[in-house]
Amino acid sequence: MLFTRRTLMLGSAAVAAMQLDPRSAFAQAADAPFKLPPLPYATNALEPHIDARTMEIHHDRHHAAYVNNLNAAAKDNPQIAKQPLQDLLAKLNALPEPLRTTVRNNAGGHANHSMFWETMGPGGGGQPSGDLASQISKDFGGFEKLQTSFNEAGTKLFGSGWVFVTVARDGKLGIEPRPNQDSVLMNGKHALFGNDVWEHAYYLNYQNRRADYLKAWWNTVNWNKVSERFAAAKAGTLTI
Ligand code: MN
Repeated sequence: MLFTRRTLMLGSAAVAAMQLDPRSAFAQAADAPFKLPPLPYATNALEPHIDARTMEIHHDRHHAAYVNNLNAAAKDNPQIAKQPLQDLLAKLNALPEPLRTTVRNNAGGHANHSMFWETMGPGGGGQPSGDLASQISKDFGGFEKLQTSFNEAGTKLFGSGWVFVTVARDGKLGIEPRPNQDSVLMNGKHALFGNDVWEHAYYLNYQNRRADYLKAWWNTVNWNKVSERFAAAKAGTLTI
């Protein structure tokens, strides 16, 4: 959908240039095992909390690069594409040692960003409800306390990384920061939702004000989707 819209908007020379750009999502071969999922909404859908340019670069360049790097590694090492993304990360040590860092960074980046786009959306924010709200009360003492602890973890995280709310099979929630593109799937856990605190996620709009970004980001959370993921985690059907 994104590709079609861009194709219509841009002249054929511009489209050809984009296809040759190795940083672009459009450089992916059709038969590549790992695919960049399209953004499920327009790049400006999360404004004013996350600006369109940041979303475009973040999805079309950064996420695309993780997918492209993973596909490049899979080309020479067929064992990488033999299992689903979540199993690849959970069984990282089953791979030959020289491959592990590449897979850790790029499969992790692919999984983290795929979860990230899905759990945000236009008209987001507000409060979680139903079973999820009850679980948040049980594990954190309420939604505001969850937000405070989550934002603190994001502010304290040195350098680049993520803050995740993990969910266990019994529904128990936890706050888990991770450096770089490390995925909680590496530890046999699932992220219910999470926030990307790499500078590429916020710098154009917020510069060094990570705390302001962390606070504003809650206005983008798609609680319906997060509730679906919560139910899937308890049913054992959540993948990434
Ligand atoms: Mn990112």
